Amino acid sequence: MEFGFVDCHCHLSAREFEEDLDDVIQRAVEAGVQTLITVTEEVGEFDRVLQLQKRYPDLVAPGFGVHPLQAGGSSQCRSVNLQDLDAAMPLFYQHRERLVAVGEIGLDFTPWFAPTRQNRDDQMSVFIKQLQVAKELDLPVNVHSRSAAQVTIATMREHGVQRALLHNFAGKPSVALEGVKDGYVFSFPPAVCRNTQRDKLIRQIPLEHICLETDSPSLGLNKHERNEPSSITSVCKYIADIKGLTPQMVQVVTAHNAYRLFPRVKQQLQTVPQS
Ligand SMILES: [Zn+2]
Repeated sequence: MEFGFVDCHCHLSAREFEEDLDDVIQRAVEAGVQTLITVTEEVGEFDRVLQLQKRYPDLVAPGFGVHPLQAGGSSQCRSVNLQDLDAAMPLFYQHRERLVAVGEIGLDFTPWFAPTRQNRDDQMSVFIKQLQVAKELDLPVNVHSRSAAQVTIATMREHGVQRALLHNFAGKPSVALEGVKDGYVFSFPPAVCRNTQRDKLIRQIPLEHICLETDSPSLGLNKHERNEPSSITSVCKYIADIKGLTPQMVQVVTAHNAYRLFPRVKQQLQTVPQS
C-alpha cells in the first residue's frame, strides 16, 4: 500500500482559495498530497466543503464543525454561542455519510477573544454538544485549542472521546503526554518551522501520535503569506530533523496514523455522489 501525505487539517472553503483552487490542488498533488481533510469554522461553509468533495472526490475529505471563534464573514472574531450551533445541528445528521470527522471544534480562551466567564461557558457548551454529535455519528474529532490545552484534553477524556486530533497544539509537553495516554494524536503545521518553540514538544510526542497538517490558508512558513497544502513537505522535513528520521519515514508513519484516526477517508471514496 502506498502512502502520500495526508493534510489532516485545512480550510479549502476559505475565501482565499476562491480564485485559484484548481492550481492550489494541482500543486498539492505534485507535492505528493493524497488526502485533504477539509474542516470548517462556521455553518456557512458546510455546503461549500461538500461541493469541494464532489469536485475533487479522491482528495477532499470533509469535516463539519463550529469553531470556538466566529467571524461571520467579517475580519473581527467573537466567541461562539449556542445559537451559532442551531443551524449546524441538523446538517451533521443529514450529511453524516459524507463526513470523515467533526471539526473544527474546540476551545479558545485567548483573553482578547473570550474575556468573560460567559464566553468560556458558551464555548464549552458548544464544544461538548459537538463531542456528543461525534460520538453519535461514530466520527473522530478535529480539535482546536488555544490557551486551553489542559481543559480541552480533560473535557474530551470526561466525555469518553477516544479518537481526537489536536491540531496546531501548543500546550506543554507534559499536557500533550497526558493526551497521548488517552490515545489522542497531535498535528503540526508549517508555522512550527518559524522558530524552535515547539521542538521540545515535537521531540517528546511519539511519532505514532503525530500527524501532518497545513491549516491552509493560515499557519504557513511566512506569517503574512497565504499558506497552501503543498507546504506540507516543509513540516514533514522539520519533524524528521527533530526526531532524527528520514522525511520518508515521517511521511509514511503520519499518513498511516491519519488513516487509522480517520478511517472513513478510505471508505468515503466509494460513497461520493458522482454528478
Ligand atoms: Zn483550522
